[in-house]
Amino acid sequence: MEYTYDDQNIFAKILRGEIPNDTVYESDYALAFNDINPQAPVHVLVIPKGPYVSLDHFAQHASAGEQVGFMQAVAKVCELTDIADGFRAVCNTRAHGVQDVPHYHMHIIGGRQLGRMLQG
Ligand code: AMP
Repeated sequence: MEYTYDDQNIFAKILRGEIPNDTVYESDYALAFNDINPQAPVHVLVIPKGPYVSLDHFAQHASAGEQVGFMQAVAKVCELTDIADGFRAVCNTRAHGVQDVPHYHMHIIGGRQLGRMLQG
């Protein structure tokens, strides 16, 4: 499958510093920031710094270093947020997955009891 990255997406603008964000953690490989429309007390988005549109694009084409760096940022978010009782990690992908922003991101959602997934 071909992946085309649109560098005008809102997370690309955040990475370039054109739009502010509420940063939770940042490294050379990833940025984690609070979701502007949180669905739970903890709702953090983790994004890679590279131009990847989706989880499958990232998993297939990112280097090992980028992939490890991304997961280390996820680990940091788990340390820094109050999710000891559990959380959900979600990567909405393309149309069927109802992905709004075409830059790969992982939602880390927790801080309250969540419902069962896939109601829609
Ligand atoms: P998705 O539907 O998985 O693509 O989710 C995109 C997420 O990005 C939504 O939860 C939005 O609330 C969030 N979002 C959109 N714009 C911003 C922004 N400027 N800062 C933080 N979160 C945002």
